[in-house]
Amino acid sequence: MTQIDLRSDTVTRPSPEMRQKMAEAEVGDDVYGEDPTVNRLQEMAAELLGFEAGLFVPSGSMGNQVAIWSHTESGQEVIVEKQSHVYNYELGTMSAFSGVTPRPIPSEDGTLDVEEIKKEINPDKYYLPETGLITLENTHNNQGGKVYPYEGIREVIDFADERDLPVHLDGARLFNASVASGTKPSKIVEGFSSVMFCLSKGLGAPVGSMLVGSEEFIEKALVGRKRFGGGMRQVGILAAAGIYALENNVERLAEDHENAEKLWKELKELGFELNPDPVETNIFFARTDSIGVNAKDLADFLKDKGIVIGPRNEREIRFVTHLDVTEDDIDQAIAGIKDYLAG
Ligand SMILES: *Cc1c(COP(=O)(O)O)cnc(C)c1O
Repeated sequence: MTQIDLRSDTVTRPSPEMRQKMAEAEVGDDVYGEDPTVNRLQEMAAELLGFEAGLFVPSGSMGNQVAIWSHTESGQEVIVEKQSHVYNYELGTMSAFSGVTPRPIPSEDGTLDVEEIKKEINPDKYYLPETGLITLENTHNNQGGKVYPYEGIREVIDFADERDLPVHLDGARLFNASVASGTKPSKIVEGFSSVMFCLSKGLGAPVGSMLVGSEEFIEKALVGRKRFGGGMRQVGILAAAGIYALENNVERLAEDHENAEKLWKELKELGFELNPDPVETNIFFARTDSIGVNAKDLADFLKDKGIVIGPRNEREIRFVTHLDVTEDDIDQAIAGIKDYLAG
């Protein structure tokens, strides 16, 4: 039985067409800069986002951490949103590997208020830690795929420019933000010092993320990537999947958003408490205690029907749509949930 997997967009599998491109890829030693397919992907990513250069990295976490390492000096602070991926799910790597400390700022919805950022930046005194970097996340994973409002980004970037501070974007799902808001990705990321985005999530590649920035930044990031153990060899096989993903799987993210919306609306009618409200992209959280349901029991029930969902605990489930989930799958998931509630 094929499973309907609504846990994460990381579970996508490369399609036959993508595998074909992978099989045909021209390769070389990428540590020598000699893999033509990697080079093409890096140029493509940089051009698409309006930056000078790009770097293929094995994972999004490595992309974020190499960016932090490249922008900062040991002893500095990095401004992060309190629910962000860099702060919560990257194992304190900025401290372990780059010698910097995160300064988390709480927010309502993953969007940092520029006034809050200002308050967290120390005055220029030799005995206070210096801020080295600001990081933002778009879409925001822990806030249910929320799109960072364009104006909010501009305010942070304008402020950072005044202070001469670099700003890194964790754009793991940048293309979801772009498709949902109808804003070109190059426009969303204008003014950032660096951007990371994932090829391996909704875009459907099996492995890999991209880092883009200035030539100078990427030169430094190349050293960082090697240092973090991310220098790769004949990796054009994977880069070919990334190229295929960028050429074929961006616009179709709209389908994932429609499927998420369909599921969201049904769950709303059934009385689940949902975040965000309304859903914006391909992710949302459902509180099950609002209708007296144990999230883990529901997950067990659905599993027997070939539907896999991700309860975070007994009260909350994260639902994620992606290119391996069809509208029909969503209908089946809805039917399964209704069966559980009826039984
Ligand atoms: C998935 C994700 C990453 C990177 O994850 P990897 O599993 O390391 O590729 C970074 N930021 C956000 C917001 C993510 O959702």
